[in-house]
Amino acid sequence: MSLADISCPNCGETDSISGRRDVNRIEMTCEACLHEWVRSLEPKCDRCGGEDMQAVPLAIVEKGRGTQLSVVGTRRIHLCSVCDASTLERYHRNRPNPLMPEELPTLPDARD
Ligand SMILES: [Zn+2]
Ligand SMILES: [Zn+2]
Repeated sequence: MSLADISCPNCGETDSISGRRDVNRIEMTCEACLHEWVRSLEPKCDRCGGEDMQAVPLAIVEKGRGTQLSVVGTRRIHLCSVCDASTLERYHRNRPNPLMPEELPTLPDARD
């Protein structure tokens, strides 16, 4: 990951920043004012670049017997509070149920 877009929160320095990468965070040091801070590696939105992400359990849906869809598990996805606002709203309305995927496995024609 690039450090180019990082500036010191203390003095605004952008060039003399060094980072030491840890497991899921980077310990940043500004060489201009020696301010140190931690930058988390929490996911960022790849659409708007925002960091206001929410971890949401997404249902893993499989076709069960007949016309039933069954939730076989969940996986954690990260949704952006801005770009995925409507999806998040849908999730929060149905809590504690997991978020259902946009595309469900095709249901067999139930007419017969
Ligand atoms: Zn600084
Ligand atoms: Zn976004």
